[in-house]
Amino acid sequence: MSFIRSHTIVAILIFAAVLATAGTAAAFPPGTLTGIDLPTVLTLDDRARAFSFELDGKKAPKKSLQKVRTIVIDPGHGGENSGALGVAEIKEKYLTMALAYRLRDQIHRKYPDVKVILTRYWDKDMSLTERVHFANLMGADMFMSLHYNAAVHDRAVGYETYFLLASEATPGEEEKKGEPIATAKNVVSGIETPIGTKKDGVYNDALVELKRDLDRERQHKESGLLAETIQNNLAKKLESTNRGVKQANFGVLRGALMPAVVVEAGFLTHPKEGQKVVEKNHREKVVKALIKSVEDFDAKLVERSKK
Ligand SMILES: [Zn+2]
Repeated sequence: MSFIRSHTIVAILIFAAVLATAGTAAAFPPGTLTGIDLPTVLTLDDRARAFSFELDGKKAPKKSLQKVRTIVIDPGHGGENSGALGVAEIKEKYLTMALAYRLRDQIHRKYPDVKVILTRYWDKDMSLTERVHFANLMGADMFMSLHYNAAVHDRAVGYETYFLLASEATPGEEEKKGEPIATAKNVVSGIETPIGTKKDGVYNDALVELKRDLDRERQHKESGLLAETIQNNLAKKLESTNRGVKQANFGVLRGALMPAVVVEAGFLTHPKEGQKVVEKNHREKVVKALIKSVEDFDAKLVERSKK
C-alpha cells in the first residue's frame, strides 16, 4: 500500500515538475531567467557589491574618484545588430563586449567603491534610446559608448572620440521655429529668449526652461571635456592616427543627462589595424587609456567645483 502511495507521490511530483517547466517556458520570453531580466540581476549585483563594500565598513581607497561615482559603459551594438565586420572577420558587437567587460573589471579592481554598470551583459540588441535612458535611470556620472570603426575603403585608420552636436544637445532658436540651421556654429543655447518673451504668469515655466537649458549646456561642455580627455589619453597609448575629437549627431548620445561620448577605438577595415584591434594587447591599451581618462576627468571636475 505504502509502496503504491510513494509511487503515486513520485508521479505527481514529476507531473508537477513537467507542468512547472512547461509553464515557465510559456510564461517568460526568451532571454529572461524565470521572468527576471539578466541585466537587472547583474545590475543589482553591481549595486550589491558597492553597498556591501560600504556596509563592511571598508573605506574607499585613499585616492578614489570623487565626482565620477557611477559609470555606465555601453558596449556598442549587440544581438541582431552586429556592427561592423572587419578584416579579422570578428563582429564589432563581440569586440565592444570584450572591451567593456575588461574595462569594468579593471575599474572595479582599482576603485571597488565606484559603481560600473554595463548597458548590456551579453549578446543582446538594444535601441539607442534604451541605452541612454538606462544611463539616466542609473544616475550615471559618465556614459561611454564603445565602438570600432569601419570605412568603405581600407585606408581609414586611427581612433576618434565623439560627443553630441550642440544643435542636438540644445535646440537653438532657428530650430525651435522649424527653420533650417545653416551651420552648427550658428546655433546658440537659447538661454536669452524664454524669459523675455514669456508673460508673467508663466514665469516659473521660464525658470524651469532656463534651468533645463543651463543643464543641457553644462552637459554639452562636460561631454566635450570628456571627449578631449579620452582622445588625449588614447594618443598616449595607441601608436595610430589621432583623428581627433568630433561632434556628430549620434542617437546613442541624445538625451543623456551626464557627460556622454562615443569612443571609436580603431578601424576594423584597415588591413593592419583591423588585425591589431582584435588582439588583447590593443584592448589593454585602450582600457588603460580609458581608466586614465576617467581619473583625469574626475580631477578636472573636482578642480572646477573649487572655483
Ligand atoms: Zn559601432
